[in-house]
Amino acid sequence: MSRTFFVGGNWKMNGSLDSSKQLIETLKSANLDSNTEVVVAPPALHLLLVKELLGNHQVKVSAQNAYHKPSGAFTGEVSVSMLKDAQIPWVILGHSERRTLFGEADENVAEKTQAALAEGLGVIACVGETLQQRESNETVNVVVRQLDAIADKVKDWTKVVVAYEPVWAIGTGKVATAEQAQEVHAAIRKWAGDKLGQDAAAKLRIIYGGSVAAKNCKELAGQPDIDGFLVGGASLKPEFVDIVNARL
Ligand code: PGA
Repeated sequence: MSRTFFVGGNWKMNGSLDSSKQLIETLKSANLDSNTEVVVAPPALHLLLVKELLGNHQVKVSAQNAYHKPSGAFTGEVSVSMLKDAQIPWVILGHSERRTLFGEADENVAEKTQAALAEGLGVIACVGETLQQRESNETVNVVVRQLDAIADKVKDWTKVVVAYEPVWAIGTGKVATAEQAQEVHAAIRKWAGDKLGQDAAAKLRIIYGGSVAAKNCKELAGQPDIDGFLVGGASLKPEFVDIVNARL
């Protein structure tokens, strides 16, 4: 089964209108592997600018978060319907920073995923364990719990990309080894086979995130169940191009 390699750049709360422009210029002038699906996720305020600068380019734009209710008295939120209206095709949901710093529970992530898919968006659904959970051998249990919550609400996973992001590897420079990542990716695919069926499991893209860099991406990309990356820090640098091209 060949799954299209998928690389997302999560810019988080970084940059300015100018630096966003520059990053897009760098991407537009680079030679990107045409077999890789690429999305970048700028801060909400920069989404439309980035979308316009990209035009019909291979790189597409993603939001970093969204709210599941279509509209109303939810000060400070942007809804999935608004993303659809603005033709933003992707949204990252359940990132560990949303879960830990902004109190998003499994149930919230599931609701958001359901709403985003209902609007026709693609969802990058993030899961992953903390260091403490890994050390107490809870990794697979935690990831399965996070995925089960989504599967309770979502039956069709064709527009979902699962991002496995061990919390201890995010922004720390401490990347999971290729073996550690592959082990969890294989467990996620097994979960998908049991829960969603073998065909859906074989098609599901499971990407890795957590300190991905030019220097470690090739080994990770060589693992059978690693179908791409969600990149934070390195997505703000020219080396993002090397990560997009990890399979070349
Ligand atoms: P990092 O972040 O690449 O800076 O570790 C990854 C992420 O949070 O998606």
